[in-house]
Amino acid sequence: MSTSTSAPPRKPMPSALTFDLHAKCSTTKARASTLHLPHGDVPLPIFMPVATQASLKGLTYDQLRQTGCQLCLNNTYHLGLKPGQAVLDAIGGAHKLQGWDRNILTDSGGFQMVSLLKLAQVTEEGVRFLSPHDGTPMLLTPEHSISLQNSIGSDIIMQLDDVIATTSPDHARIHEAMERSVRWLDRCIDAHKYPERQNLFCIIQGGLDLELRKQCCEAMVARDTPGIAIGGLSGGEAKEDFCKVVDTCTGLLPEKKPRYVMGVGYPEDLIVGVALGADMFDCVWPTRTARFGNAVVPSGTLNLRHRSYAEDFRPVQEGCTCSICRPRDQGGLGITRAYIHHLTAKETVGAHLLTMHNVHYLLSLMGSARQAILEDRFPAFLREFFANLYGEKSNYPSWVVDALRGVGVDLMVD
Ligand SMILES: [Zn+2]
Repeated sequence: MSTSTSAPPRKPMPSALTFDLHAKCSTTKARASTLHLPHGDVPLPIFMPVATQASLKGLTYDQLRQTGCQLCLNNTYHLGLKPGQAVLDAIGGAHKLQGWDRNILTDSGGFQMVSLLKLAQVTEEGVRFLSPHDGTPMLLTPEHSISLQNSIGSDIIMQLDDVIATTSPDHARIHEAMERSVRWLDRCIDAHKYPERQNLFCIIQGGLDLELRKQCCEAMVARDTPGIAIGGLSGGEAKEDFCKVVDTCTGLLPEKKPRYVMGVGYPEDLIVGVALGADMFDCVWPTRTARFGNAVVPSGTLNLRHRSYAEDFRPVQEGCTCSICRPRDQGGLGITRAYIHHLTAKETVGAHLLTMHNVHYLLSLMGSARQAILEDRFPAFLREFFANLYGEKSNYPSWVVDALRGVGVDLMVD
């Protein structure tokens, strides 16, 4: 088997996006930009909520629109099982199926299989697994993943990659997975039927080995896809290692393309990721944690199931402009912590209201970061954000302090 990752000669790939870089922070690596996609403009940096039946439970697309979301994720694995490719083709894709007129990004389906199906096995052909329905052996190849995503019609589609846990001790396997991901990218590019309306993103792999990450960046940047993702993170590695990988990769990526760090959703991770030069993030955490009664706010998370909220008549987050927190006389629902506390004990509607607040919170956090970058006051934004989140400087995690020092901001010095 060839271990070469040099790019085969081919015509330049058409792109269905334009990327306008408006401003770069004069201290850190943060950027503010606009991504023009087939279903509208997306301000970057951005958090993208995951909209599957499984994670945005109860939230309608109307309500998702109200949170200000311009780009959400759909899972190829779930859509491929139900309604399935034939129905997607018949109806004309996921936008029409779901009545969503804004942008959709789909994953390749590979990660879902490897993580959900214990018996998934990766070979050069693709990911082999047993059907969760009837146990028949099945194979997800790069070609099949792209074909499914072409049927879904998502605005951004992801290559099938060979994902290994960053904590794996098997360096040879991590090396193999990186090179295989490059070979699979070539197969995805060849299989992609609609590059003029769907944007294929490559996924940088290489585990925590910065040399492998560099090789992968070089090989994948040469393929000239419309956007670039940094994959394989958020798998339990130390935050210091996470930051080193993001920092190394963004330093090697072209300036004029969007950079997406996959699987990241804690507010502090997003903000550090932005400072390190990343533009896009996704995670199921903000919506999943809502189902456990957790509200994401500037000081961290509030578990509204706790009985201390039973008579707390403040909004979920004071000053929040989401439709849940906004007072009734300003067109909102004026929901109180006490009401959510009351609901979360027995009703799913409590989770549903918190989901709306949490998605809105992360979207508006990214909007505030963007505004700070545009006005070149992002370092001050960082100081304020971390002071709100952790209070005393002695509470600041060392990985945050170190990562930001690396890009010129020392949180410990006023
Ligand atoms: Zn709110």
